[in-house]
Amino acid sequence: MNEDEALTPLFARIGETGTARYTRMPDGELLAETAYRIVRDETMLDGNARLNLATFVGTWMDEHADRLYHDSFDKNMIDKDEYPATAAIEEYCWRILADLWSVPDPSDVIGTSTIGSSEACMLGGLALKRRWRAARVAAGKPADKPNLIMSSAVQVCWEKFCNYFDVEMRLIPTTDEHPIMDGTGLEDVVDENTIGVVVLMGVTYTGAYEPVAEIGRILDGIQERTGLDIPIHVDGASGAMIAPFLQPELEWDFRVPRVQSINTSGHKYGLVYPGVGWVVWRNTAALPEELVFKVSYLGGEMPTLALNFSRPGAQVLLQYYRFVRLGRIGFTAIQLASQRVAQFLSKGVSELAPYELLTDGSDIPVFAWRIKPGYTDKWDLHHLSERLRIRGWLVPAYPLSGEQTDQTVMRIVCRNGLSRDLAEDLLRDIRTETAYLDELEQPMPEAGIKTTFHH
Ligand SMILES: *Cc1c(COP(=O)(O)O)cnc(C)c1O
Repeated sequence: MNEDEALTPLFARIGETGTARYTRMPDGELLAETAYRIVRDETMLDGNARLNLATFVGTWMDEHADRLYHDSFDKNMIDKDEYPATAAIEEYCWRILADLWSVPDPSDVIGTSTIGSSEACMLGGLALKRRWRAARVAAGKPADKPNLIMSSAVQVCWEKFCNYFDVEMRLIPTTDEHPIMDGTGLEDVVDENTIGVVVLMGVTYTGAYEPVAEIGRILDGIQERTGLDIPIHVDGASGAMIAPFLQPELEWDFRVPRVQSINTSGHKYGLVYPGVGWVVWRNTAALPEELVFKVSYLGGEMPTLALNFSRPGAQVLLQYYRFVRLGRIGFTAIQLASQRVAQFLSKGVSELAPYELLTDGSDIPVFAWRIKPGYTDKWDLHHLSERLRIRGWLVPAYPLSGEQTDQTVMRIVCRNGLSRDLAEDLLRDIRTETAYLDELEQPMPEAGIKTTFHH
């Protein structure tokens, strides 16, 4: 061995010639370059993020964003007093979102960044729960059995919210007649213990919008008949950054009076790398004050509300970069391009004999399809998923929710960075692999195929 270990060629060094699977901290040190290689190389077995069509989360930003990220990865979002400029930018961002979502009075609004929509949903749900409890206590009624209404197709964060914060989860099952929560049956499940209704702008399973305004009208009717005044939280993890640009006429946001709060994932169609979400309340009255803490800021105080304490500030700066770099015109151009790719792909898939579409990408740029019932018993979409994976594409197959769990669907999320060019290659590969499966004379083996995808 060389005296000067730095001279030893890579892959022949101490730490590389033995195992590098450390589950205990090693005793000694390694050269930084060697350690870097070990970690970097192990992750080569991960899928390629740009070909990951399962995720909604940003996998591409431009070089200036990368530079800004590099410049700011040492900023802790919670250090508002130490990094007042970053704290101010966080506020600009949620104010921009409040405006995009048609908040009635910009001088009376509150919001915050979070680590993602999951945390944002927890905060939205907590505000609903506290408001309900305050009203119940004021009326001298019991406040120990809160429930929250939502579709069976909600993202797992709502299951967590209900579990962690002791709220009964009342699911409206999706069915073939009602593949989204459209308000049917709402009257049968709400009661005086209902803290709110969660409406999805962008159902994770299929990309479809639930009709917020219609559900608002149904709840108005319920209030007229029963006196129950039930608020809405819109889970706009994906759609709240699409609808303002692609469906500006659609009334889903604070234009619907019952909507008290909206969350989105900055790292989904907000076009930022993983690690940022947002929640905004209609007005300060919608957020019970006891949930807000004060931290010192420029000698004064600043409100904060969050489940986390420390978290990266860089993603907030990246969000602001996206807002000022793109503006409304740029955001519209990007979301439209993603939608066109989604519609190009969904049309191509719908033209293949075995398939029928559940959605075509005209709500959010996401579409889902299934094999026509009774078409074949030789293969299913899990096999197609596996065949596409051989070619590098990560496209999930999974069961639907509610009363549709016997149906397997496949979904593609079209994001900024999935170019038309790549989409043409993907469609070619879907065609080729479908033809391969369709020509089989024997059924594909079941063994080894299991559902591993999680929403
Ligand atoms: C992705 C998603 C979430 C969770 O968002 P994260 O930012 O990943 O925490 C919640 N709700 C819906 C509808 C989603 O699509």
